[in-house]
Amino acid sequence: MSETQVETKQFQAETRKVLDIVINSLYTERDIFVRELVSNAADALEKFRHQSLIEKVEFDAHVPLEITIDCDDKKHTLTIADTGIGMTKDELETNLGTIAHSGSSHFFEQLAEAAKKDVNLIGQFGVGFYSVFMAAKTVKVQTRSWNGGDGWEWASDGGGTYTVSPCAGLHRGTKIIIELKDDAQTYGSKFTIERIIQQYSTFVPFPVKVEGKTVNTVQAIWTRSKNEISEEEYNEFYKFIGTAADEPLYRLHFSADAPLAINALVYVPKENFEVLGMGRMQPGVNLYCQKVLIDQHSENILPEWLRFLKGVVDSEDLPLNISRQSLQDNALVGKLRRVLTKRVIKFLGEEAGRDSAKYLEFWKTFGIFIKEGVTSDFEHRTDLAKLLRFESSASEPGAMISLDEYVGRMREGQDKIYYINGPSRVAVEYGPYVEMFKKRGVEIFYTLEPIDDFVLNHLGEYDGKKLVSADRADLSLPESTETTPETETKESGAPLDAGQIKTLCQWMKEALGERVQEVKVSSRLVDSPAMIVNVDGYMTSSMERVLKASGQAETFGMGSKKDMEINAASPLIKQLASLHENDAAFAQDVVEQLYDNAMIQAGLMVDPMAMVRRNYRILERVTGGSGPAV
Ligand code: ADP
Ligand code: MG
Repeated sequence: MSETQVETKQFQAETRKVLDIVINSLYTERDIFVRELVSNAADALEKFRHQSLIEKVEFDAHVPLEITIDCDDKKHTLTIADTGIGMTKDELETNLGTIAHSGSSHFFEQLAEAAKKDVNLIGQFGVGFYSVFMAAKTVKVQTRSWNGGDGWEWASDGGGTYTVSPCAGLHRGTKIIIELKDDAQTYGSKFTIERIIQQYSTFVPFPVKVEGKTVNTVQAIWTRSKNEISEEEYNEFYKFIGTAADEPLYRLHFSADAPLAINALVYVPKENFEVLGMGRMQPGVNLYCQKVLIDQHSENILPEWLRFLKGVVDSEDLPLNISRQSLQDNALVGKLRRVLTKRVIKFLGEEAGRDSAKYLEFWKTFGIFIKEGVTSDFEHRTDLAKLLRFESSASEPGAMISLDEYVGRMREGQDKIYYINGPSRVAVEYGPYVEMFKKRGVEIFYTLEPIDDFVLNHLGEYDGKKLVSADRADLSLPESTETTPETETKESGAPLDAGQIKTLCQWMKEALGERVQEVKVSSRLVDSPAMIVNVDGYMTSSMERVLKASGQAETFGMGSKKDMEINAASPLIKQLASLHENDAAFAQDVVEQLYDNAMIQAGLMVDPMAMVRRNYRILERVTGGSGPAV
């Protein structure tokens, strides 16, 4: 081969960063790189096996599917070869020169963090190959694609560049030749390699041969019967399939013959990697047919909101030669997906019943996905609703209850399920919206996440009962029963008569102008003088807040339809009735302040500057006695 055929290329900037992190911050658990390379080899074999079912393979068709590892203790090299799908020149440069989900700077921070915390996590980032440089002085990747095109050699020392050059005499597949660093010579010993394979790669579904001897037992654990599988095997398989370091939170292994033949083994991890800032997860369940991998990280076999699951689904009913592209519209796959989704939802419900504390742990980590399901998966919405958990006025702080629990203790005469959103339990409990609920002993959910109102709004009703936000205008709570006697509101001074109230409301409406649609007397305020309610049945203040924050408020054309309800028994309101006759300018300030306060309690935005100026005028008046306000 002539020198001119060697092309020297720069790694993509992101790749250089990853290399830097991998080489400089990973000192412990170097063993991981062997697992990553073996897993890439297994992936390549799976891809080839599937490809050969779709298309007739002419080139090297007879070459057996396996991984061979050779060690040289004297030359200090390690070679890992597979007879998988191989790579063309383009693939080689894309796969080993760039990073697929080319990350944000956040990605690198997270990677560096994860690397420090637990090297095992590196596989989750889709940059496993580069871990080879933890142990390698130089790496050569010799590869030839299954289509029989030319062979190529990629070589690098993990610095800024790599070379690509033609490589003759290769069979199908990929061979990775590692020249070991001086302090990594242990990987030249077959004992080390055997130990690592047994530790991490026992479930690789192809023979792994170290120095000619097969060191793993090829098995599809999910097709075996439950009582033959030990807890340890289950956990090991989870670590293998989920590239996880710890044990799973839940495990579901089930088989069915009707309506479809299914073997499924899925796990719920302990951690939600999306909140760890790694962006959207790819689905974690692989689709097999008769133990042949059809679709890795399948987007088709489960709905998107179940992307946090890890595991395997195998169905003999699928045609073996089905292509990945046609999975999406395949009716059988659709059916499979429905059966699986229902089964997973049922399973989670059962787990909640079995151990509610553990379920709460699940809920805190993965509840966001269940909520996503409620808003996006119409078919399973009702079943999913059973899995929802929220705090409520009747729950202990921090504890959460289900819609079923709520419905089970609804008061006589109550036909709706109530909720109110707020930034915290304390904020909600001090707010005006729950006053009458407390007084009448009606339970109310506290939805403390911004997304919650969208979720409950999508759900609409549960068990035949409407879900209603307590900041709605047309709310009528069940009357008090004798067991919860209505205490008299503390009165000070004579109550306003109907005429006075009417005049006051009219005047307040005029004073507030476009800001409110109407000012009305409230039937449900106890202590607070006023509150803002939403006239549009489907919009809550919390939803408005979220839409405003995301700049979408205009699209939804809201922000105008609000009423202010006032508490006619409140001393402030009573005094306001006479104030507006004696001192109109000051009364105007007070009404506006009342409105702003109510908006703040609704969690909605007010103009802070205008409010502060007005507030000073009021303070001045209060501290200065009874002189007219400026
Ligand atoms: P990931 O495996 O998560 O995609 P890696 O960094 O381990 O990330 O590998 C990057 C890519 O390089 C793989 O997706 C694959 O396309 C390619 N690759 C790596 N090793 C092999 C191999 N032995 N045979 C074929 N392709 C490979
Ligand atoms: Mg990999």
